[in-house]
Amino acid sequence: MWNGLLAQFPSTPQPCLLCDLPSTERLCPGCRFQLPYLTRYRHRCSLCALPLNTDSHYCGHCLQEPPPFERCRLACSYEFPLDHLIHAFKYQRQLTAGRALSELLIEHLQAERQDTDETDWPDLLVPVPMHWSRRFQRGFNQTELLAKDLGRALSVPVRSRLCRRRHRTRAQQGLTRTARIHNLRDAFELRPNAPGTLSEKRVALVDDVVTTTSTVRALSRLLKNAGAASVEVWAIARTPEAELTKALP
Ligand SMILES: [Zn+2]
Ligand SMILES: [Zn+2]
Repeated sequence: MWNGLLAQFPSTPQPCLLCDLPSTERLCPGCRFQLPYLTRYRHRCSLCALPLNTDSHYCGHCLQEPPPFERCRLACSYEFPLDHLIHAFKYQRQLTAGRALSELLIEHLQAERQDTDETDWPDLLVPVPMHWSRRFQRGFNQTELLAKDLGRALSVPVRSRLCRRRHRTRAQQGLTRTARIHNLRDAFELRPNAPGTLSEKRVALVDDVVTTTSTVRALSRLLKNAGAASVEVWAIARTPEAELTKALP
């Protein structure tokens, strides 16, 4: 059911997912304009895309502990009203909200691709895995649906079965950075066929929201140890610094 819906979106007006006004797209032009696009921030960390208040290239975290990934390509800041759409998709199973989010990220990636050398563009997409029990509970893994949409639109193959989550890790929200790292220790493992598939490949990890980067750091390390030539992160949104400070006492 998920496959092919992008192409089939009707051109007759439907209620906008955010304001309910009739629109020929999932989000009306007014709501699209108001989204918290990261490109509107003058300064962002060149590694993790965190919006910065000062004119510098890197955030404090990336300076102190350089991440094992090369860059993050993220569309928005995790703020109102985008947080509502993400919540509707993940927790209320509104797949049309998921579609709208895919479309946002696709548009952002298409624009970035124009400024990127083809030899630097990823060869394959790996969605951040979800523990089987959580997936069973939710009925889907949102990063896998997102990766499928991105892969189809941008013609990059998706490898959803390369990596798995071994434990049902505690929710990362509210944990300190040290607790998050501990929570993620050995959380992921690669399938035996992974090194063959990853060897010399440029990989993009697909996530929905990047918060402290602990998850994508752990996964990037694993992919690189298995032979990936480079790893970048593709996600819909980045949690802004003010929220990070709340999450990390
Ligand atoms: Zn609207
Ligand atoms: Zn950074």
